[in-house]
Amino acid sequence: MGFFRKMIEKQKEIDRKKIEEARKERSEFENKKSELDEQGEVYCPKCLSIKLSANKKGYDIKKGILLGGVGGFIGKDKIEITCLKCGNKFKPGE
Ligand SMILES: [Zn+2]
Repeated sequence: MGFFRKMIEKQKEIDRKKIEEARKERSEFENKKSELDEQGEVYCPKCLSIKLSANKKGYDIKKGILLGGVGGFIGKDKIEITCLKCGNKFKPGE
């Protein structure tokens, strides 16, 4: 086996490992996500943290999402939730 051939084989192996890792990471993410869904938790869609802050004072995130999921509620679009972990901003029900 020539040098370049070896290099290519090695690179292929690295790529394969990377793909495997990415796949594993993704399934862990999906698992955690469905777990949170089952628990009825409100979570950041990006990092799955449940440490969130809503920009409307006294707003019940859980209740809001619940109502929003059922058929929408007034003022839904005005509320923005901020993830305290990664800073991701999203709207309830998304
Ligand atoms: Zn986050």
